[in-house]
Amino acid sequence: MTMPLDVVTTFAVKHVSRQLVTVNSPSTLLAAWQQACEWDQPALILGGGSNVLFVDDFAGTVIINRIMGVRWSESAEYWQVHAGAGEIWHQLLENALALGRPGLENLALIPGCVGAAPIQNIGAYGVELQQFCDYVDCLELSSGHALRLNASECQFGYRESIFKHAVPQRYAIVAVGLKLAKHWRPVLSYGELGRLDAQMVTPRQVFDMVCRQRRARLPDPARWGNAGSFFKNPLVSPQQAVALLAQYPQMPCYPQQEGQVKLAAGWLIDQCQLKGYRLGAAAVHEQQALVIVNSGNASSDQIVSLARLIRQRVADKFAVWLEPEVRFIGAQGEVDAVAMIS
Ligand code: NAP
Repeated sequence: MTMPLDVVTTFAVKHVSRQLVTVNSPSTLLAAWQQACEWDQPALILGGGSNVLFVDDFAGTVIINRIMGVRWSESAEYWQVHAGAGEIWHQLLENALALGRPGLENLALIPGCVGAAPIQNIGAYGVELQQFCDYVDCLELSSGHALRLNASECQFGYRESIFKHAVPQRYAIVAVGLKLAKHWRPVLSYGELGRLDAQMVTPRQVFDMVCRQRRARLPDPARWGNAGSFFKNPLVSPQQAVALLAQYPQMPCYPQQEGQVKLAAGWLIDQCQLKGYRLGAAAVHEQQALVIVNSGNASSDQIVSLARLIRQRVADKFAVWLEPEVRFIGAQGEVDAVAMIS
């Protein structure tokens, strides 16, 4: 028997896995992992399935992490929360706000579970998870030992962490610890948030504006399968940015502390006139060119081909090569997404 994967991923592409197991504790997670190892099959742990594209049927066990539980504590300066990896990110954020513990509002409506947040170092509207992350609790899959990584050990970067590269097959994230400063400072540096008055604004107003903006621009996965931003915003050298600006003076660009310049991938794609472009049932979203949507029964081949076409068009026009932010999963596990669309 095979298990459908479209119901556990927001892209809703019709691939299957051999087994699908939902776990609600570290011990059941470990048991599911060990079982797959005994069968000599691959295993893959998913939370909300909102940042993955299965490009093939999965030849093993997909483990859905539903380890729940939220515990609050406080110190003089911080609200601290310990949240199970299976908690819904947006719900945690809403509950924090309802309890009068703000800080996370710029990260509202990011789909997915708490356990996925550090993997990708989720970020939006000028805020990243790493600013709040105290620790990440993991389970070492080979030994079953518990392990706590503090924030610096997580090696956070732009949509990056140690969990993406060095250790994905070794550790499962079971809980995340966050620290919210009691002295709240709004972050209003992005887009329309800049219209809010930093002295008067409330966390609820920031939250509402972020939700409004996201709902206006991003497709609801319940209606249109998608995995959010398909590509990362590229980083280019200052020289390349200057050369591009000479040709495209309107081009948004954001100098980074490390010296490189961040470009807006959505803008680059839009300039290639690709908004709304379709390949079968895979389409570039009309409102936000950075998102690829499954407008019906898109196959993973159609989505991958569309991503390849987008990447090539952007490179032809700007000499910038986009890289997927979405992670591609093949029959045996993660595959090189850049190689697949090259
Ligand atoms: P936008 O306002 O159209 O801006 C396009 C890009 O320019 C953004 O991706 C953002 O980069 C960058 N940008 C805009 N203002 C900036 C500033 N003041 N300083 C530095 N960089 C700036 O973006 P959007 O598509 O509506 O998204 C708004 C926010 O939600 C962004 O932070 C975006 O990353 C986040 N988001 C993430 C996903 C996802 O799946 N990962 C999906 C949707 C939205 P950054 O992306 O580096 O912030």
